[in-house]
Amino acid sequence: MVRSVDAEVLSAALLTIEDERSWDAQAELTRAISIEEAARVLGDPLLIARARLCQANMRMRSGDVAGAAEQIWQVHEWAVGNDARLLLARTHLIWACIHQYLGDSEQALEHALLSVELLDDESTTHMHIWHRTKLADALWAAGSMDAARLRYAQAEELAVLSGSPALLCLLNNHAYAEYDTGHQQRAEEVAKRLQRLADERGIPLEPAFLDTVGAIQIGNGRFAEAEATMRLCIERHAEGRHEDADALPEYLLTLAQAQRGLRAYSRAQESLDECRALCTERDLVDVLARAHQEQAELHAARGEFAEAFAVHKTFFTAYQNLHSLQREARTRTRQAMFETVEARQEAERFREQARRDPLTGLHNRRHVDEVLPVLIASDPALTIALVDLDHFKQVNDRLSHSVGDQVLVKVAALIADGAAAVCPEGFTARIGGEEFLVVLPGTLPARAFALLDGIRRTIREHDWRDLTHGLPVTVSIGVAAAADVPAPTQPTLLSTADGHLYSAKHAGRDRVVSAASRGYASAA
Ligand code: GH3
Ligand code: MG
Ligand code: MG
Repeated sequence: MVRSVDAEVLSAALLTIEDERSWDAQAELTRAISIEEAARVLGDPLLIARARLCQANMRMRSGDVAGAAEQIWQVHEWAVGNDARLLLARTHLIWACIHQYLGDSEQALEHALLSVELLDDESTTHMHIWHRTKLADALWAAGSMDAARLRYAQAEELAVLSGSPALLCLLNNHAYAEYDTGHQQRAEEVAKRLQRLADERGIPLEPAFLDTVGAIQIGNGRFAEAEATMRLCIERHAEGRHEDADALPEYLLTLAQAQRGLRAYSRAQESLDECRALCTERDLVDVLARAHQEQAELHAARGEFAEAFAVHKTFFTAYQNLHSLQREARTRTRQAMFETVEARQEAERFREQARRDPLTGLHNRRHVDEVLPVLIASDPALTIALVDLDHFKQVNDRLSHSVGDQVLVKVAALIADGAAAVCPEGFTARIGGEEFLVVLPGTLPARAFALLDGIRRTIREHDWRDLTHGLPVTVSIGVAAAADVPAPTQPTLLSTADGHLYSAKHAGRDRVVSAASRGYASAA
């Protein structure tokens, strides 16, 4: 009982990470890693997979997209293989974010759609809201703002009904999407809803949301309000919640833009200097490039055109630099994704190879051991047969081992083709040197006998002259049907077939023996 309580505790802990209630991705990553360790002790594969997916998500949020891409494959595979629908919905959501990062908005949209389609009654409310929000984000990025709006509205309705804390975040994204696509009026409306809601709920707006509000106010030329918003934003940031390293410089940059709009140039310069110092200290090329751009604007606003031009050149270099850095990071992520797919395909090839006989290309005994017990348990109409070459030693002795090999390859093909033509759902395996097993699902003994006798005749009548120079090639076949054996198992079926094969050899070879035919020769 202790086990299941532990599993419940871990599951609940994972849910708080899955529902993304914390802003601190690094701390959540550490937490997810220790939950995975605990889940391994419990031996609970679903909890392990969930914990690993949380790690991938937090890695992505901390900027390690390549690491996330690598990790998410395994989780995705596991979820597919184990029909873990909710987990699958979550992996598609993260795939969507990764493709978004790679600039592939079509793929991002496809995954975002799947992440919503896979939702069901068991999905958490947060998933219903958040997956629709991310779908809306993907639609916005793909240039379908109308469709995006529809999804934002659905998510908003759900979030209002359930009193979800995700409502603020989704309004923030929606407001920013409207702002980004040039719908200033709409952006303003959504931002107002965001602020009103925070007031109603008595929750101070997150600094990141205030930054969106500030940017929208700037876009609408309301610079004094924007400056006040950004001052509040920076105050709240200082109050404590953990945020990414680039958060404060971003806020300072928005503040500088508001101040330039107000023509408060020296305040703007102060904010910008502070922003750039932080960028240099924290090595933030992205924000720094935009800070140079803002500096050029500021010079120009003050009429300092020579300086504006000089800084603009700096901005241009920084911008190009940034793009090559981003390109490198994206290449790394693509490479990580590619390598994981390759490793997976390699492993599959290896698995498949281990189940094939190298000489004839047929399945081998390992494959039989994996598949046959399942077939026996599920198919009462299953029939199997052992096929053994007659006097094969003579072929080796009189001709050569190499000719023997060629005969084996040809016989293998004649058996496999003959069986597949009549029973495509079956298979043929090489289980000994010159011994083959034919497995015929859904084939009752009488039909199997006719089929196998046909194969026997084909082999005997094949034109072997080129290969054996007149030495005949024939086979003896022992049949066993699940219908003829009480409580059939792999050993009992194989030994029945072997007994019949022995009878066939004893009766003169080149014949098929089954329970029904025992005692008379099928050919002469
Ligand atoms: P019968 O089954 O009719 O009683 O006679 P047989 O001569 O076929 O019987 P046996 O089982 O004693 O001999 C099988 C021979 O098959 C022995 C071995 O040299 C040969 N053999 C087994 N594997 C291979 C192979 O991969 N290549 C070749 N060329 N010969 C093989
Ligand atoms: Mg043999
Ligand atoms: Mg033999």
